[in-house]
Amino acid sequence: MNIPRTLFAHLPTPIEALPHLTTLLGGPQLLIKRDDLTGLAFGGNKARKLEFVLAEAQANGAKTLVTVGDIQSNHCRQTAAIAAKFGFKCILVLSGTEPDLANGNLLLDHLLGAEIVWTVREERANTLKTVFQQAWENGERPYLIPLGASNPVGTFGYVEAIREIVGQKIDVNWIVVASSSGGTQAGMVLGAHLYNWSGKILGICIDHHALELQTTVTHLANEASERIGKDISISSQEILVNDRYLGGGYAVAGEVELEAIRMFAKTEGILLDPVYTGRAAAGMIDLIKNGFFTQEDKVLFWHTGGSPTLFAEPYSAQLNK
Ligand SMILES: *Cc1c(COP(=O)(O)O)cnc(C)c1O
Repeated sequence: MNIPRTLFAHLPTPIEALPHLTTLLGGPQLLIKRDDLTGLAFGGNKARKLEFVLAEAQANGAKTLVTVGDIQSNHCRQTAAIAAKFGFKCILVLSGTEPDLANGNLLLDHLLGAEIVWTVREERANTLKTVFQQAWENGERPYLIPLGASNPVGTFGYVEAIREIVGQKIDVNWIVVASSSGGTQAGMVLGAHLYNWSGKILGICIDHHALELQTTVTHLANEASERIGKDISISSQEILVNDRYLGGGYAVAGEVELEAIRMFAKTEGILLDPVYTGRAAAGMIDLIKNGFFTQEDKVLFWHTGGSPTLFAEPYSAQLNK
């Protein structure tokens, strides 16, 4: 694959066994891919995508990175960090209400020097357009990074992540991963084709229903495939997703998510997050309890980061109980 990439993520990330969790749940064998350790301002899955997205912004002569997310967006925090490191101005369009005291990712956005424009969820796309236009007119040479850096370019981050695990020579036949804006799963699916990884990739839906997420992932994977001139056609039937764990909706942590966070912390010393990995882990635990996997399966739980949110409201209060 010959796509421009600016290296800054700490790669390869480790793969570790989860022996206590495996015993507690009575098998299958569980392992974890530590993409919470991709470096740069607490890491997470957006670092891999941003290596490719940043290279494109640099090639275009951009001076400002503009992106969008929720108040506690991990993607926005990681974008603010690369902007600082590579000398860009950063404008974040965040949905939510500006709190008196910033915490979690929002506190980090401030520390990293991002300019923040507040909006509400329904107005987010419009606000983003206006902010981008304004930056353009001001001569700030803005480059627009979509929600979650989930465009075909960002997708290459996870294509290459599959190459990475193939190189790590671990023996697993399932990947379980939190899936939201779809770029992570799309990259993995395309990567599995390109690098002959034959396992299954299960996305646990974080906010969208199965059909919608499958469509998004399929489109992204096929667009990315076209960009590198590969004649790989991915059908939506091969995208495995499960939307039974949507719970109270996006960013609402219920008892199952909190329980999964506690379980990983107490048995393995690993910190999940309340929005993404807590939900994905809760889904995986439920699937194990219901006999979805066999005893022979080897399941790689892909940690996508997000732990700064543990220190944000309302989650820190919930976890204090
Ligand atoms: C963004 C994010 C995800 C979801 O990745 P997508 O590529 O948007 O599907 C999962 N986990 C964490 C911690 C994230 O920040």
